[in-house]
Amino acid sequence: EKEELKKLVDVKAKTKSGKRIEVAGNIGKPEDVHKVLENGADGIGLFRTEFLYMDRDDMPTEEEQFGSYKYVLEKMEGKPVVIRTLDIGGDKQLPYLAMPNEMNPFLGYRAIRLCLDRTDLFKIQLRALLRASVYGNLKVMFPMVSSLSEFQKSKELVEECTVELKAEGHDVSESIEWGIMVEIPAAAVMADELAKHVDFFSIGTNDLIQYTLAADRMSEKVSYLYDPMHPAVLRLIKMTIDGAHSQGKWCGMCGEMAGDETAIPTLVEYGLDEFSMSASSILRAKQVILEQE
Ligand code: PEP
Ligand code: MG
Repeated sequence: EKEELKKLVDVKAKTKSGKRIEVAGNIGKPEDVHKVLENGADGIGLFRTEFLYMDRDDMPTEEEQFGSYKYVLEKMEGKPVVIRTLDIGGDKQLPYLAMPNEMNPFLGYRAIRLCLDRTDLFKIQLRALLRASVYGNLKVMFPMVSSLSEFQKSKELVEECTVELKAEGHDVSESIEWGIMVEIPAAAVMADELAKHVDFFSIGTNDLIQYTLAADRMSEKVSYLYDPMHPAVLRLIKMTIDGAHSQGKWCGMCGEMAGDETAIPTLVEYGLDEFSMSASSILRAKQVILEQE
């Protein structure tokens, strides 16, 4: 069985009818890139950059972040690398960043909401990403987007940073793709509209499921409600994929569900273009995709 899977390292995943599907890896630290490559991934579908900010006493500088992003882009040698901007709040705290006490942290000050409030922090990360962009095939996505204005405000900051960097003599790639995570039901419902503005979607099922079913992803007591195959969740996923395709955009998934072999056949049928998962699930996912019509 293990030997069978190993043979798939250099095999590209496609369905029997010939649809090519990207199988990518999720990483939290730059070094994780090696495990992803060893398992034959087509790219990185989610780099959770908050790990660069955690387990330390201060913010990572622009220079440090630039080094981390450049490292991953170079190791991936031109394969797509989707980097997600800082997703802090909810269950993830930083010791050096004062956060409000909230009744419902998962519904509160987190991710893009925090970044658009603390543009001083956000711009440091955007500058590091823009500078690193010339070293590979960079795609950037924003977490927890609930409406178009959050994406537009983020893009305005990107524009500001680009102008500043160029004035300072830095090169910035012209071909970066800009996308959003679809992990709030409102974004899934509005996918066809949002798709007019973004370059791609990546569905974050870990959060999408908890928000759709109002079942905290951290709570044991309600975990019986947390069902990736709930018809409401499946409809939202389908709407998101269809919404992307209606505007000629691609749609990926980077939540746990993407690596769940019982869910993959349904997601392939819905037309999902990219599956991103932990490195250890990649080969089995390829095998399942190769069996699909
Ligand atoms: C998700 O919500 O599905 C996701 C991939 O992001 P995270 O698990 O980091 O919230
Ligand atoms: Mg999430």
